[in-house]
Amino acid sequence: MIDSTDIRSQVVAAAKAMDAAGLVVGTAGNVSGRGDDGTIWLTPSSLPYDQVSVDNLAAVDLEGNLLEGTARPSTEKAMHLACYRAFPEVGGVLHCHPVHASMFAVAHRSIPAMIEEVIVYLGGDVPVTAYQPTGSDELGEEVVRHLADRSAVLMANHGMLCVGESPDHALHAALVAEHTARIVWGASRLGDLVELPEKTRTDFEGVYSYLRSETWAAK
Ligand SMILES: [Zn+2]
Repeated sequence: MIDSTDIRSQVVAAAKAMDAAGLVVGTAGNVSGRGDDGTIWLTPSSLPYDQVSVDNLAAVDLEGNLLEGTARPSTEKAMHLACYRAFPEVGGVLHCHPVHASMFAVAHRSIPAMIEEVIVYLGGDVPVTAYQPTGSDELGEEVVRHLADRSAVLMANHGMLCVGESPDHALHAALVAEHTARIVWGASRLGDLVELPEKTRTDFEGVYSYLRSETWAAK
């Protein structure tokens, strides 16, 4: 069971780890988590990560209504809430601007799943959305369109959004996606890239889909 104290601690820990890993610059990016009572806890708008604590997260409901006595949520909350509304198994959402993944987002190129762990943890290639402005409901709809069978999506000319069964799980997805983007970008300088065998892709897609449907906590 994830009570309110636990989920707030998990959001804070994932936000600080995201910052420490260099996935964002300054106050960019945001992290959220869903408690057992359905409340969504989001990192606050424009607060340096070293000042983010369990006491200054924003609590909102699924429609984005601010619950009483809480901080101002991130301006990018719409896409977080869209993920929670669309996917009851999702318990954590993380948005960041990592360098290598963002290179693919700027080029409007998906990150190809050429490493086994990418398929197991992310479901396959990391797709890229059509461009929609930051903070818009349209961007929320656009990311959700790509996340039914994926844990990460690139937002065109912006960054990346990841989902997981918890905030920490979403952070892991972001680290795997960024790591893969860096490898693929570097490997492409060495010559032609070699695809994984089709059977391997299909088998590992099955592992991802099993884990997501059977082990992510349904809320
Ligand atoms: Zn952003």
